[in-house]
Amino acid sequence: MSDAGIDIRKIRNIGIAAHIDAGKTTTSERILFYTGKIHRIGEVHEGAATMDFMDQERERGITISSAATTCYWKEYMVNLIDTPGHVDFTMEVERSLRVLDGAVAVFCAVGGVEPQSETVWRQLDKYRVPRIAFVNKMDRVGANFFDVMEQIKERLGANPVPIQLPMGAEDAFKGIIDLITMQAIEYADELGTRLELEEIPQAFLAEAKKWRERLIEALAEVDDEIMESYLEGREISEESIKRALRFGTISLKLVPMLCGSALKNKGIQLLLDAVIDYLPSPLDIPPVKGVDPRTGEEVVRHTDAEAPFTALAFKVLVDPYVGRVVYTRIYSGKLHTGMSVLNTNTGKKERIGRILRVHANKREDIESALAGTIVAIPGLKNTRTGDTLCDEKEPVVLEGMNIPEPVISLAIEPASKADQVKLSKGLAALAEEDPTFRVAIDHETGQTIISGMGELHLEIIVDRLRREFGVDVRVGKPQVAYREAIKRPARGEGKFIRQSGGRGQYGHVVFEIEALPGHRGYEFEDRIVGGVIPKEFIPAVQ
Ligand code: GDP
Repeated sequence: MSDAGIDIRKIRNIGIAAHIDAGKTTTSERILFYTGKIHRIGEVHEGAATMDFMDQERERGITISSAATTCYWKEYMVNLIDTPGHVDFTMEVERSLRVLDGAVAVFCAVGGVEPQSETVWRQLDKYRVPRIAFVNKMDRVGANFFDVMEQIKERLGANPVPIQLPMGAEDAFKGIIDLITMQAIEYADELGTRLELEEIPQAFLAEAKKWRERLIEALAEVDDEIMESYLEGREISEESIKRALRFGTISLKLVPMLCGSALKNKGIQLLLDAVIDYLPSPLDIPPVKGVDPRTGEEVVRHTDAEAPFTALAFKVLVDPYVGRVVYTRIYSGKLHTGMSVLNTNTGKKERIGRILRVHANKREDIESALAGTIVAIPGLKNTRTGDTLCDEKEPVVLEGMNIPEPVISLAIEPASKADQVKLSKGLAALAEEDPTFRVAIDHETGQTIISGMGELHLEIIVDRLRREFGVDVRVGKPQVAYREAIKRPARGEGKFIRQSGGRGQYGHVVFEIEALPGHRGYEFEDRIVGGVIPKEFIPAVQ
Protein backbone atom coordinates (compact mmCIF):
# COMPACT_ATOMS: atom_id res chain seq x y z
CA MET A 1 0.00 0.00 0.00
CA SER A 2 1.09 3.53 -0.57
CA ASP A 3 -0.35 6.99 -0.70
CA ALA A 4 0.47 7.37 -4.38
CA GLY A 5 -3.10 7.90 -5.53
CA ILE A 6 -4.23 10.19 -2.76
CA ASP A 7 -5.74 13.52 -3.66
CA ILE A 8 -4.54 15.96 -1.00
CA ARG A 9 -7.83 17.84 -1.24
CA LYS A 10 -9.47 14.70 0.09
CA ILE A 11 -7.55 14.61 3.35
CA ARG A 12 -8.89 15.96 6.63
CA ASN A 13 -6.60 16.10 9.66
CA ILE A 14 -8.92 16.83 12.51
CA GLY A 15 -9.01 16.84 16.27
CA ILE A 16 -11.96 16.39 18.55
CA ALA A 17 -11.74 18.92 21.31
CA ALA A 18 -13.93 18.94 24.35
CA HIS A 19 -14.41 19.37 28.04
CA ILE A 20 -13.99 16.06 29.88
CA ASP A 21 -17.22 14.08 29.80
CA ALA A 22 -18.76 16.02 26.91
CA GLY A 23 -18.52 12.80 24.90
CA LYS A 24 -15.29 13.00 22.95
CA THR A 25 -14.46 9.33 23.42
CA THR A 26 -17.97 8.20 22.52
CA THR A 27 -18.03 10.48 19.47
CA SER A 28 -14.61 9.23 18.30
CA GLU A 29 -15.70 5.66 18.83
CA ARG A 30 -18.87 6.17 16.79
CA ILE A 31 -16.82 7.77 14.01
CA LEU A 32 -14.66 4.65 13.91
CA PHE A 33 -17.79 2.49 13.89
CA TYR A 34 -19.55 4.27 11.04
CA THR A 35 -16.35 4.43 8.98
CA GLY A 36 -15.97 0.69 9.41
CA LYS A 37 -12.83 0.76 11.52
CA ILE A 38 -14.42 -1.03 14.42
CA HIS A 39 -17.23 -3.47 14.01
CA ARG A 40 -18.99 -3.38 17.28
CA ILE A 41 -19.79 -0.41 19.43
CA GLY A 42 -17.99 -0.80 22.72
CA GLU A 43 -14.92 -2.32 21.11
CA VAL A 44 -12.86 0.75 21.82
CA HIS A 45 -13.66 0.66 25.49
CA GLU A 46 -13.34 -3.08 25.89
CA GLY A 47 -10.34 -4.01 23.81
CA ALA A 48 -6.71 -3.32 24.56
CA ALA A 49 -6.41 -1.59 21.23
CA THR A 50 -8.06 1.76 21.34
CA MET A 51 -7.34 5.31 20.56
CA ASP A 52 -6.54 5.93 24.17
CA PHE A 53 -5.46 2.50 25.12
CA MET A 54 -3.92 3.18 28.48
CA ASP A 55 -5.91 1.65 31.28
CA GLN A 56 -5.81 4.57 33.60
CA GLU A 57 -6.99 6.89 30.90
CA ARG A 58 -10.14 4.89 30.55
CA GLU A 59 -10.61 4.64 34.28
CA ARG A 60 -10.21 8.34 34.71
CA GLY A 61 -12.03 9.18 31.53
CA ILE A 62 -9.18 11.39 30.46
CA THR A 63 -7.35 11.05 27.22
CA ILE A 64 -3.69 11.70 27.64
CA SER A 65 -1.97 10.26 24.61
CA SER A 66 -2.47 12.31 21.50
CA ALA A 67 -2.12 9.71 18.84
CA ALA A 68 -3.78 9.68 15.46
CA THR A 69 -5.99 7.16 13.78
CA THR A 70 -6.96 7.06 10.13
CA CYS A 71 -10.40 6.28 8.73
CA TYR A 72 -12.17 6.88 5.45
CA TRP A 73 -15.50 8.55 4.81
CA LYS A 74 -16.89 8.87 1.30
CA GLU A 75 -13.42 8.47 -0.25
CA TYR A 76 -11.92 11.06 2.04
CA MET A 77 -9.06 10.17 4.37
CA VAL A 78 -9.90 11.43 7.84
CA ASN A 79 -7.04 11.44 10.33
CA LEU A 80 -8.43 11.77 13.82
CA ILE A 81 -5.87 13.36 16.06
CA ASP A 82 -6.70 12.91 19.67
CA THR A 83 -6.64 16.08 21.77
CA PRO A 84 -6.76 15.74 25.53
CA GLY A 85 -9.28 17.83 27.40
CA HIS A 86 -7.49 18.14 30.68
CA VAL A 87 -5.64 21.37 31.39
CA ASP A 88 -2.84 19.51 33.11
CA PHE A 89 -1.76 18.34 29.68
CA THR A 90 -1.47 21.62 27.87
CA MET A 91 1.59 20.38 26.03
CA GLU A 92 -0.41 17.45 24.67
CA VAL A 93 -3.10 19.82 23.50
CA GLU A 94 -0.57 22.16 21.97
CA ARG A 95 1.21 19.46 20.05
CA SER A 96 -1.98 18.12 18.52
CA LEU A 97 -3.03 21.65 17.60
CA ARG A 98 0.21 22.02 15.73
CA VAL A 99 -0.59 19.19 13.36
CA LEU A 100 -4.33 19.30 12.88
CA ASP A 101 -6.02 21.41 10.23
CA GLY A 102 -9.52 21.57 11.66
CA ALA A 103 -11.42 20.61 14.77
CA VAL A 104 -14.75 19.38 15.98
CA ALA A 105 -15.58 21.04 19.28
CA VAL A 106 -17.90 18.76 21.21
CA PHE A 107 -20.22 20.34 23.78
CA CYS A 108 -22.60 18.68 26.18
CA ALA A 109 -26.15 19.85 25.44
CA VAL A 110 -26.73 20.18 29.17
CA GLY A 111 -23.38 21.49 30.45
CA GLY A 112 -22.74 23.78 27.47
CA VAL A 113 -19.57 25.82 27.58
CA GLU A 114 -17.58 24.65 30.59
CA PRO A 115 -14.26 26.00 31.85
CA GLN A 116 -12.19 23.45 29.97
CA SER A 117 -14.15 23.88 26.78
CA GLU A 118 -13.19 27.52 27.09
CA THR A 119 -9.50 26.70 27.55
CA VAL A 120 -9.46 24.40 24.56
CA TRP A 121 -11.42 26.92 22.45
CA ARG A 122 -8.86 29.63 23.23
CA GLN A 123 -6.07 27.31 22.22
CA LEU A 124 -7.85 26.62 18.94
CA ASP A 125 -8.16 30.39 18.49
CA LYS A 126 -4.46 30.83 19.14
CA TYR A 127 -3.58 28.37 16.41
CA ARG A 128 -6.33 29.71 14.14
CA VAL A 129 -7.93 26.29 13.76
CA PRO A 130 -11.21 26.30 11.80
CA ARG A 131 -13.87 24.36 13.63
CA ILE A 132 -17.38 23.03 13.72
CA ALA A 133 -19.38 22.65 16.91
CA PHE A 134 -21.20 19.44 17.77
CA VAL A 135 -23.78 19.69 20.55
CA ASN A 136 -23.81 16.17 21.92
CA LYS A 137 -26.10 14.48 24.45
CA MET A 138 -29.31 15.91 22.96
CA ASP A 139 -31.05 12.94 24.59
CA ARG A 140 -30.21 14.04 28.15
CA VAL A 141 -32.65 15.68 30.50
CA GLY A 142 -32.11 19.41 30.31
CA ALA A 143 -30.55 19.32 26.81
CA ASN A 144 -30.87 22.66 25.07
CA PHE A 145 -29.25 23.32 21.70
CA PHE A 146 -30.04 27.04 21.70
CA ASP A 147 -28.65 27.65 25.18
CA VAL A 148 -25.37 26.13 24.06
CA MET A 149 -25.44 28.34 20.97
CA GLU A 150 -25.89 31.46 23.14
CA GLN A 151 -23.01 30.38 25.38
CA ILE A 152 -20.72 29.81 22.40
CA LYS A 153 -21.59 33.33 21.27
CA GLU A 154 -21.26 35.05 24.61
CA ARG A 155 -18.56 33.17 26.45
CA LEU A 156 -16.40 32.20 23.52
CA GLY A 157 -17.05 35.27 21.40
CA ALA A 158 -17.65 33.09 18.35
CA ASN A 159 -20.17 33.25 15.53
CA PRO A 160 -22.05 29.93 15.76
CA VAL A 161 -24.33 29.24 12.81
CA PRO A 162 -26.75 26.31 13.16
CA ILE A 163 -26.88 24.19 10.01
CA GLN A 164 -29.09 21.67 11.78
CA LEU A 165 -31.79 21.71 14.40
CA PRO A 166 -32.57 18.92 16.80
CA MET A 167 -35.92 17.28 16.25
CA GLY A 168 -37.10 17.27 19.83
CA ALA A 169 -34.89 16.95 22.89
CA GLU A 170 -34.34 14.68 25.89
CA ASP A 171 -36.42 11.48 25.58
CA ALA A 172 -38.19 12.95 22.60
CA PHE A 173 -34.98 13.53 20.60
CA LYS A 174 -35.85 11.73 17.39
CA GLY A 175 -33.54 13.02 14.76
CA ILE A 176 -32.13 16.01 13.01
CA ILE A 177 -33.40 18.72 10.70
CA ASP A 178 -30.95 19.63 7.98
CA LEU A 179 -31.31 23.36 7.36
CA ILE A 180 -29.42 23.19 4.08
CA THR A 181 -31.56 20.55 2.37
CA MET A 182 -34.61 21.37 4.53
CA GLN A 183 -35.20 17.71 5.22
CA ALA A 184 -35.71 15.77 8.40
CA ILE A 185 -33.51 12.79 9.19
CA GLU A 186 -34.86 10.08 11.43
CA TYR A 187 -33.05 7.02 12.61
CA ALA A 188 -34.78 3.76 11.84
CA ASP A 189 -32.65 1.51 14.01
CA GLU A 190 -30.86 1.70 17.35
CA LEU A 191 -27.41 1.54 15.82
CA GLY A 192 -28.22 4.56 13.72
CA THR A 193 -27.17 2.88 10.50
CA ARG A 194 -30.49 3.39 8.68
CA LEU A 195 -31.26 7.03 8.06
CA GLU A 196 -34.69 7.93 6.81
CA LEU A 197 -35.13 11.19 4.99
CA GLU A 198 -38.52 12.76 5.24
CA GLU A 199 -40.32 16.08 5.11
CA ILE A 200 -39.90 18.31 8.10
CA PRO A 201 -42.81 17.55 10.45
CA GLN A 202 -45.35 20.34 10.74
CA ALA A 203 -44.48 20.93 14.39
CA PHE A 204 -40.90 21.93 13.49
CA LEU A 205 -41.53 23.67 10.20
CA ALA A 206 -41.85 27.28 11.38
CA GLU A 207 -38.74 26.98 13.55
CA ALA A 208 -36.80 25.37 10.70
CA LYS A 209 -37.79 28.17 8.31
CA LYS A 210 -36.71 30.79 10.82
CA TRP A 211 -33.29 29.21 11.32
CA ARG A 212 -32.80 28.61 7.61
CA GLU A 213 -33.35 32.35 7.13
CA ARG A 214 -30.76 33.10 9.81
CA LEU A 215 -28.31 30.71 8.16
CA ILE A 216 -28.67 32.56 4.86
CA GLU A 217 -28.27 35.92 6.63
CA ALA A 218 -25.09 34.71 8.33
CA LEU A 219 -23.73 33.49 4.99
CA ALA A 220 -24.64 36.75 3.26
CA GLU A 221 -22.29 38.46 5.71
CA VAL A 222 -19.34 36.44 4.44
CA ASP A 223 -20.25 35.83 0.82
CA ASP A 224 -21.13 38.46 -1.78
CA GLU A 225 -22.92 36.11 -4.13
CA ILE A 226 -25.24 34.96 -1.37
CA MET A 227 -25.74 38.57 -0.31
CA GLU A 228 -26.85 39.50 -3.82
CA SER A 229 -29.20 36.55 -4.18
CA TYR A 230 -30.57 37.25 -0.73
CA LEU A 231 -31.23 40.92 -1.46
CA GLU A 232 -32.88 40.05 -4.76
CA GLY A 233 -34.97 37.34 -3.12
CA ARG A 234 -33.54 34.64 -5.40
CA GLU A 235 -33.42 30.96 -4.49
CA ILE A 236 -30.00 29.97 -3.14
CA SER A 237 -28.71 26.58 -4.17
CA GLU A 238 -27.41 23.92 -1.82
CA GLU A 239 -24.01 24.15 -3.51
CA SER A 240 -23.79 27.91 -2.92
CA ILE A 241 -24.68 27.46 0.73
CA LYS A 242 -22.06 24.76 1.20
CA ARG A 243 -19.41 26.75 -0.61
CA ALA A 244 -20.08 29.83 1.52
CA LEU A 245 -20.14 27.77 4.70
CA ARG A 246 -16.82 26.20 3.80
CA PHE A 247 -15.30 29.58 3.09
CA GLY A 248 -16.73 31.10 6.28
CA THR A 249 -15.48 28.20 8.40
CA ILE A 250 -11.98 28.05 6.96
CA SER A 251 -11.57 31.81 7.22
CA LEU A 252 -12.69 31.59 10.87
CA LYS A 253 -15.65 33.87 10.32
CA LEU A 254 -18.22 31.38 11.51
CA VAL A 255 -18.65 28.04 13.24
CA PRO A 256 -21.26 25.67 11.77
CA MET A 257 -23.29 24.11 14.56
CA LEU A 258 -24.56 20.55 14.54
CA CYS A 259 -26.22 18.35 17.09
CA GLY A 260 -26.81 14.76 18.01
CA SER A 261 -26.33 12.06 20.56
CA ALA A 262 -23.22 9.96 20.18
CA LEU A 263 -24.47 7.51 22.77
CA LYS A 264 -27.80 7.03 21.03
CA ASN A 265 -26.10 6.84 17.64
CA LYS A 266 -27.67 9.94 16.20
CA GLY A 267 -25.96 12.57 14.13
CA ILE A 268 -22.50 11.07 13.61
CA GLN A 269 -22.72 10.41 9.86
CA LEU A 270 -23.93 13.97 9.34
CA LEU A 271 -21.04 15.20 11.48
CA LEU A 272 -18.63 13.28 9.24
CA ASP A 273 -20.26 14.86 6.17
CA ALA A 274 -19.72 18.27 7.75
CA VAL A 275 -16.06 17.47 8.49
CA ILE A 276 -15.58 16.81 4.78
CA ASP A 277 -17.73 19.68 3.58
CA TYR A 278 -16.48 22.47 5.85
CA LEU A 279 -13.15 21.68 7.47
CA PRO A 280 -9.96 22.45 5.57
CA SER A 281 -7.79 20.06 3.61
CA PRO A 282 -4.01 20.40 4.02
CA LEU A 283 -4.09 22.60 0.91
CA ASP A 284 -6.38 25.12 2.59
CA ILE A 285 -4.06 25.96 5.45
CA PRO A 286 -1.10 28.34 5.40
CA PRO A 287 2.23 26.74 4.52
CA VAL A 288 4.58 25.81 7.37
CA LYS A 289 7.57 27.97 8.07
CA GLY A 290 10.99 27.07 9.33
CA VAL A 291 14.60 28.09 9.20
CA ASP A 292 17.43 26.76 7.08
CA PRO A 293 20.00 25.72 9.73
CA ARG A 294 22.89 26.48 7.34
CA THR A 295 21.98 30.06 6.60
CA GLY A 296 19.41 31.05 9.22
CA GLU A 297 17.08 32.11 6.41
CA GLU A 298 13.35 31.53 6.53
CA VAL A 299 12.05 28.54 4.62
CA VAL A 300 8.41 28.18 3.57
CA ARG A 301 7.07 24.74 2.70
CA HIS A 302 3.77 24.37 0.90
CA THR A 303 1.71 21.19 1.01
CA ASP A 304 3.14 19.73 -2.15
CA ALA A 305 4.16 16.14 -2.79
CA GLU A 306 6.85 17.30 -5.23
CA ALA A 307 8.58 19.64 -2.77
CA PRO A 308 11.46 18.49 -0.53
CA PHE A 309 10.42 16.24 2.32
CA THR A 310 9.55 18.06 5.57
CA ALA A 311 7.78 16.60 8.57
CA LEU A 312 7.23 17.24 12.25
CA ALA A 313 7.43 14.52 14.91
CA PHE A 314 4.53 15.33 17.20
CA LYS A 315 4.20 12.34 19.44
CA VAL A 316 6.42 9.53 20.63
CA LEU A 317 4.49 6.60 21.93
CA VAL A 318 5.09 3.04 22.95
CA ASP A 319 2.52 1.30 20.81
CA PRO A 320 1.15 -1.92 22.33
CA TYR A 321 1.69 -3.72 19.00
CA VAL A 322 4.91 -2.38 17.56
CA GLY A 323 6.83 -0.68 20.35
CA ARG A 324 8.25 2.82 20.11
CA VAL A 325 6.72 4.78 17.26
CA VAL A 326 7.04 8.41 16.26
CA TYR A 327 3.82 10.01 15.02
CA THR A 328 4.70 12.40 12.25
CA ARG A 329 2.87 14.96 10.18
CA ILE A 330 4.26 15.24 6.69
CA TYR A 331 4.05 18.82 5.46
CA SER A 332 5.75 18.52 2.11
CA GLY A 333 7.26 15.91 -0.17
CA LYS A 334 7.10 12.15 0.14
CA LEU A 335 8.29 9.64 2.64
CA HIS A 336 9.11 6.11 1.57
CA THR A 337 10.62 3.08 3.17
CA GLY A 338 14.34 2.67 2.74
CA MET A 339 14.84 6.44 2.63
CA SER A 340 17.14 8.29 4.92
CA VAL A 341 15.95 11.52 6.55
CA LEU A 342 17.75 14.19 8.49
CA ASN A 343 16.63 15.15 11.97
CA THR A 344 17.69 18.78 12.05
CA ASN A 345 17.28 19.02 15.82
CA THR A 346 19.83 16.30 16.53
CA GLY A 347 21.81 16.68 13.31
CA LYS A 348 21.57 12.92 12.87
CA LYS A 349 20.31 10.92 9.93
CA GLU A 350 17.70 8.25 10.49
CA ARG A 351 16.70 5.45 8.17
CA ILE A 352 13.03 4.79 7.54
CA GLY A 353 12.58 1.04 7.87
CA ARG A 354 8.80 0.91 8.17
CA ILE A 355 5.95 3.35 7.83
CA LEU A 356 2.65 2.61 9.51
CA ARG A 357 -0.80 3.96 9.15
CA VAL A 358 -2.75 3.47 12.35
CA HIS A 359 -6.41 2.50 12.04
CA ALA A 360 -8.15 2.13 15.41
CA ASN A 361 -6.78 -1.26 16.37
CA LYS A 362 -4.87 -2.16 13.22
CA ARG A 363 -1.45 -1.11 12.07
CA GLU A 364 -1.06 -1.06 8.31
CA ASP A 365 2.40 -1.13 6.71
CA ILE A 366 2.64 1.32 3.86
CA GLU A 367 5.54 1.90 1.52
CA SER A 368 5.16 5.59 1.01
CA ALA A 369 3.26 8.51 2.42
CA LEU A 370 2.51 11.91 0.95
CA ALA A 371 2.45 15.54 2.05
CA GLY A 372 -0.62 16.29 4.14
CA THR A 373 -0.83 12.87 5.77
CA ILE A 374 0.02 11.52 9.19
CA VAL A 375 2.01 8.37 9.76
CA ALA A 376 3.62 6.47 12.60
CA ILE A 377 7.26 5.55 12.11
CA PRO A 378 8.75 2.72 14.18
CA GLY A 379 12.47 2.34 14.76
CA LEU A 380 13.59 5.98 14.89
CA LYS A 381 16.07 5.96 17.71
CA ASN A 382 17.00 9.59 17.99
CA THR A 383 13.79 11.42 17.21
CA ARG A 384 11.72 13.05 19.91
CA THR A 385 8.58 15.11 20.10
CA GLY A 386 8.98 18.44 18.35
CA ASP A 387 11.85 17.39 16.08
CA THR A 388 11.88 18.18 12.38
CA LEU A 389 12.60 15.41 9.89
CA CYS A 390 13.56 16.47 6.39
CA ASP A 391 15.39 15.88 3.18
CA GLU A 392 19.08 16.12 4.04
CA LYS A 393 19.82 18.20 0.96
CA GLU A 394 17.14 20.73 1.85
CA PRO A 395 17.45 21.01 5.63
CA VAL A 396 14.91 22.98 7.60
CA VAL A 397 14.05 23.34 11.26
CA LEU A 398 10.34 23.90 11.71
CA GLU A 399 9.18 26.26 14.43
CA GLY A 400 9.80 24.47 17.68
CA MET A 401 7.02 23.29 19.89
CA ASN A 402 6.37 25.27 22.96
CA ILE A 403 7.41 22.79 25.61
CA PRO A 404 6.44 24.24 28.98
CA GLU A 405 8.54 23.87 32.08
CA PRO A 406 7.21 21.42 34.66
CA VAL A 407 5.31 23.02 37.51
CA ILE A 408 5.27 20.33 40.13
CA SER A 409 7.87 17.94 41.49
CA LEU A 410 8.01 15.07 43.89
CA ALA A 411 10.64 12.76 45.28
CA ILE A 412 10.33 9.13 44.30
CA GLU A 413 12.17 6.05 45.51
CA PRO A 414 11.98 2.33 44.94
CA ALA A 415 10.19 0.40 47.69
CA SER A 416 13.10 -2.02 47.75
CA LYS A 417 16.65 -2.06 46.45
CA ALA A 418 15.65 -4.68 43.90
CA ASP A 419 13.33 -2.17 42.25
CA GLN A 420 16.06 0.39 41.59
CA VAL A 421 17.08 -0.81 38.15
CA LYS A 422 13.48 -1.21 37.00
CA LEU A 423 12.70 2.26 38.30
CA SER A 424 15.53 3.87 36.35
CA LYS A 425 14.48 2.05 33.20
CA GLY A 426 10.84 3.02 33.63
CA LEU A 427 11.64 6.65 34.29
CA ALA A 428 13.92 6.86 31.29
CA ALA A 429 11.26 5.35 29.03
CA LEU A 430 8.51 7.65 30.28
CA ALA A 431 10.69 10.75 30.03
CA GLU A 432 11.43 9.89 26.46
CA GLU A 433 7.76 9.66 25.55
CA ASP A 434 6.78 12.86 27.25
CA PRO A 435 8.89 16.01 27.08
CA THR A 436 6.99 17.68 29.92
CA PHE A 437 7.97 14.91 32.28
CA ARG A 438 11.48 15.27 33.70
CA VAL A 439 13.67 13.22 35.99
CA ALA A 440 16.58 14.59 37.98
CA ILE A 441 18.68 13.84 41.03
CA ASP A 442 18.60 16.40 43.82
CA HIS A 443 22.25 17.05 44.52
CA GLU A 444 21.71 17.97 48.16
CA THR A 445 19.67 14.98 49.21
CA GLY A 446 20.50 12.42 46.53
CA GLN A 447 16.80 11.86 45.95
CA THR A 448 15.27 11.16 42.56
CA ILE A 449 12.91 14.00 41.70
CA ILE A 450 10.25 13.68 39.04
CA SER A 451 8.52 16.76 37.64
CA GLY A 452 5.49 17.28 35.50
CA MET A 453 2.54 19.46 34.59
CA GLY A 454 0.32 18.80 37.57
CA GLU A 455 -0.52 16.41 40.35
CA LEU A 456 -2.64 14.26 38.04
CA HIS A 457 0.15 14.07 35.49
CA LEU A 458 2.56 12.70 38.13
CA GLU A 459 -0.06 10.37 39.57
CA ILE A 460 -0.45 8.83 36.14
CA ILE A 461 3.32 8.49 35.77
CA VAL A 462 3.55 6.70 39.13
CA ASP A 463 0.63 4.51 38.12
CA ARG A 464 2.31 3.60 34.84
CA LEU A 465 5.56 2.78 36.66
CA ARG A 466 3.63 0.31 38.77
CA ARG A 467 1.61 -1.24 35.96
CA GLU A 468 3.87 -1.16 32.95
CA PHE A 469 7.27 -1.46 34.57
CA GLY A 470 6.29 -3.44 37.65
CA VAL A 471 8.11 -1.11 40.03
CA ASP A 472 6.89 -0.59 43.53
CA VAL A 473 7.63 3.01 44.47
CA ARG A 474 7.23 5.36 47.38
CA VAL A 475 6.51 8.98 46.64
CA GLY A 476 6.97 12.15 48.63
CA LYS A 477 4.72 15.16 48.89
CA PRO A 478 4.29 17.16 45.70
CA GLN A 479 6.16 20.42 45.59
CA VAL A 480 5.21 23.31 43.46
CA ALA A 481 7.70 24.90 41.16
CA TYR A 482 7.72 28.62 40.72
CA ARG A 483 5.11 29.97 38.39
CA GLU A 484 4.71 33.64 37.86
CA ALA A 485 1.13 33.54 39.04
CA ILE A 486 2.12 32.34 42.50
CA LYS A 487 3.21 35.86 43.30
CA ARG A 488 -0.35 36.94 43.82
CA PRO A 489 -2.30 33.96 45.14
CA ALA A 490 0.54 32.90 47.43
CA ARG A 491 -0.36 35.69 49.82
CA GLY A 492 -4.08 35.13 49.65
CA GLU A 493 -4.60 31.48 49.14
CA GLY A 494 -1.53 29.56 50.15
CA LYS A 495 1.55 29.94 52.25
CA PHE A 496 5.10 29.13 51.29
CA ILE A 497 6.79 26.89 53.79
CA ARG A 498 10.31 26.61 52.57
CA GLN A 499 12.47 26.73 49.56
CA SER A 500 13.48 23.24 48.64
CA GLY A 501 16.23 22.02 46.42
CA GLY A 502 17.78 25.44 45.99
CA ARG A 503 17.97 26.62 42.45
CA GLY A 504 16.11 23.86 40.71
CA GLN A 505 17.51 21.55 38.11
CA TYR A 506 15.50 23.29 35.47
CA GLY A 507 16.79 26.75 36.10
CA HIS A 508 14.09 27.82 38.49
CA VAL A 509 13.67 27.80 42.22
CA VAL A 510 11.47 25.14 43.72
CA PHE A 511 9.35 26.05 46.70
CA GLU A 512 7.26 23.92 48.90
CA ILE A 513 3.87 25.41 49.33
CA GLU A 514 1.13 24.70 51.76
CA ALA A 515 -2.20 25.06 50.09
CA LEU A 516 -5.20 26.04 52.09
CA PRO A 517 -7.78 23.29 52.60
CA GLY A 518 -9.67 22.58 49.44
CA HIS A 519 -7.21 24.45 47.29
CA ARG A 520 -4.73 22.59 45.11
CA GLY A 521 -1.50 24.46 45.60
CA TYR A 522 -0.56 24.69 41.98
CA GLU A 523 -3.87 25.47 40.40
CA PHE A 524 -3.56 29.18 40.46
CA GLU A 525 -3.56 30.04 36.85
CA ASP A 526 -3.11 28.33 33.56
CA ARG A 527 -0.06 30.17 32.50
CA ILE A 528 3.19 28.53 33.43
CA VAL A 529 6.31 30.60 33.34
CA GLY A 530 9.79 29.22 33.63
CA GLY A 531 12.76 31.23 34.80
CA VAL A 532 14.04 32.50 38.08
CA ILE A 533 11.70 33.80 40.74
CA PRO A 534 11.75 37.60 40.80
CA LYS A 535 14.03 39.09 43.47
CA GLU A 536 11.38 41.34 44.94
CA PHE A 537 9.32 38.31 45.76
CA ILE A 538 11.97 36.27 47.54
CA PRO A 539 11.98 38.27 50.82
CA ALA A 540 8.25 37.65 51.15
CA VAL A 541 8.87 33.94 51.07
CA GLN A 542 11.81 33.53 53.38
P1 GDP B 1 -15.08 12.28 27.16
O1 GDP B 1 -14.57 12.44 28.54
O2 GDP B 1 -15.35 13.61 26.52
O3 GDP B 1 -14.25 11.41 26.30
O4 GDP B 1 -16.54 11.65 27.30
P2 GDP B 1 -17.06 10.17 27.09
O5 GDP B 1 -17.26 9.89 25.66
O6 GDP B 1 -16.24 9.23 27.88
O7 GDP B 1 -18.51 10.33 27.72
C1 GDP B 1 -18.71 10.69 29.06
C2 GDP B 1 -19.99 10.08 29.55
O8 GDP B 1 -21.08 10.62 28.84
C3 GDP B 1 -20.06 8.57 29.34
O9 GDP B 1 -20.72 8.01 30.45
C4 GDP B 1 -20.88 8.42 28.09
O10 GDP B 1 -21.59 7.20 28.03
C5 GDP B 1 -21.84 9.60 28.21
N1 GDP B 1 -22.28 10.08 26.89
C6 GDP B 1 -21.54 10.31 25.79
N2 GDP B 1 -22.32 10.74 24.79
C7 GDP B 1 -23.57 10.79 25.26
C8 GDP B 1 -24.83 11.13 24.68
O11 GDP B 1 -24.94 11.50 23.53
N3 GDP B 1 -25.91 11.06 25.51
C9 GDP B 1 -25.83 10.66 26.80
N4 GDP B 1 -26.94 10.62 27.50
N5 GDP B 1 -24.66 10.32 27.36
C10 GDP B 1 -23.55 10.37 26.61
